[in-house]
Amino acid sequence: MTVADNLKKIFEELPEEVRLIAISKTKSTDQVMQVYNAGHLVFGESKAQELLPKYEALPKDIRWHMVGHLQSNKVKYIAPFVELIHSIDSLKLLRIVNKEARKNARTIQCLLQIHIAEEESKYGLQFEEACEILESESFRNMGNVEICGLMGMATLTDNTDQVKSEFRQLKQYFDTIREKYFPRKASFKEISMGMSGDYRLAIEEGSTMVRIGSAIFGERDH
Ligand SMILES: *Cc1c(COP(=O)(O)O)cnc(C)c1O
Repeated sequence: MTVADNLKKIFEELPEEVRLIAISKTKSTDQVMQVYNAGHLVFGESKAQELLPKYEALPKDIRWHMVGHLQSNKVKYIAPFVELIHSIDSLKLLRIVNKEARKNARTIQCLLQIHIAEEESKYGLQFEEACEILESESFRNMGNVEICGLMGMATLTDNTDQVKSEFRQLKQYFDTIREKYFPRKASFKEISMGMSGDYRLAIEEGSTMVRIGSAIFGERDH
């Protein structure tokens, strides 16, 4: 199977309204080009220091998403071009994204990353912390970021009931936050959930964006 075959197979399963972010972390620019040449233009990376060189080396019609933990001091490297940051996990980070977006005279679209997994190690906000950010004076004064939805990662487990219930929880958080803070904002519409191992479950639970790496590119070397 080539990456083009993998991509085709995934697209056959995706409902039309669910967007695919091809996660190219650890993969070479040649491998990205194979997917690009198959007609896909939306890619995601989990580290700013991998994203920047790929942006510089690859065609400029690629749209780049940041999906991994973002350190405050790295925001400036991706602020000029990043299309969507999925991984806002603190007010401090959001403030810096706003500042760097303003320097670049643009608005950066962002998702709040919510912790839904059982594992302690994964990044993300508690639901209450997300609400605190959205209620803060500081957030209300930000003119250069737009919160477009939520992102979450489920526990890495074979227990599909657990994974489904974590995704369902994220969808409920999304509905609550939309009603409370974005009732008239059509731009608050994204639920980024689902990876290679669990995207079918995520779609059943209402995902609008799946972030798929190894099912397209093959397993990563660890
Ligand atoms: C690596 C990664 C993915 C993709 O993982 P796969 O299991 O390879 O599909 C999705 N989201 C984030 C945040 C990641 O770091």
